[in-house]
Amino acid sequence: QSKKNGRDCFCYFSREFSQQAEQALHLTNMLHKALEKEELQLYYQPQVDLESRAIIAAEALLRWHNDEMGWISPAQMIPIAEESGLILPIGQWVLEQVAQQIRSHYETNKEWLPIAVNISVKQFITDDFIEMVMKIIDAHAIPARCLELELTESLMLADVELAVKKMGELHTLGVPLALDDFGTGYTSLAYLKRFPVNKIKLDRAFVTDIHHSKGDAALAKSLVAFTREMEFELIAEGIEEEIQGEYLKAMGFRYGQGYLYSRPLPKEEFSKLFTNQMLTA
Ligand code: C2E
Ligand code: MG
Ligand code: MG
Ligand code: MG
Repeated sequence: QSKKNGRDCFCYFSREFSQQAEQALHLTNMLHKALEKEELQLYYQPQVDLESRAIIAAEALLRWHNDEMGWISPAQMIPIAEESGLILPIGQWVLEQVAQQIRSHYETNKEWLPIAVNISVKQFITDDFIEMVMKIIDAHAIPARCLELELTESLMLADVELAVKKMGELHTLGVPLALDDFGTGYTSLAYLKRFPVNKIKLDRAFVTDIHHSKGDAALAKSLVAFTREMEFELIAEGIEEEIQGEYLKAMGFRYGQGYLYSRPLPKEEFSKLFTNQMLTA
């Protein structure tokens, strides 16, 4: 009896496993074609001043729609892009689109809006990453300070020395760096001082319960004190409720991002939102 169960079990898992592998392979093939079929899009989520709610910057977020499969989330797509190496052409496409968007925003509004781009570790560690970024900045004639790169702590797992060196070079070239998802990894505050980043993004995991979790509030407060001392900028991610924004403001946060202010929007809608804000200001 138990032997039979065991065998059923094995079959079940192996079938599930091969289905997963097949699904991944299928997605990889689709993703190969996604760029040329123009299935990828960037959405833009505002980053706001918590006090005035004015848009001070945006984050570009990748969206993929496929006729057969519908919307595929970045959580599904990015790992596949990384494993297949497709993250390199896709990542470059994202940087180009964003540089173009920064330029066209300037043409329309006569002001430079910083836009942040998520960079995967695989992309960051390629030999010509910095050269590629600088070429894009030059080609679109945008200020380096507007193209912000968001990196995660997983970067430090690769090669710390190399990562710090490259971050330093970008810093020198005037390209701002933000540490994304802060608090979810293993990096302590003490670790932070080694990294030449300009900005820390407190992860949504610490924002959600900020109004009733002593621990989350304590972390947020110490982060405010630390970033002030170290002259880092600080922003809170994933603000969904008024009360979270109020608490963060009271703790000394100046900037925030989240559904409360705006969801990520297609570029036309983002532009419209920005224009409306200028008109009503
Ligand atoms: P992230 O960089 O931390 O981006 C923030 C994520 O939180 C986004 O999810 C955003 O839509 C979502 N978000 C924003 N405000 C709220 C909120 O108030 N509540 C909740 N529940 N969620 C909120 P998204 O777009 O699904 O992206 C997920 C992750 O995928 C990103 O996390 C980023 O790590 C990665 N990603 C997205 N676009 C790119 C890209 O172009 N390149 C690379 N390498 N990674 C990307
Ligand atoms: Mg990000
Ligand atoms: Mg994040
Ligand atoms: Mg994230």
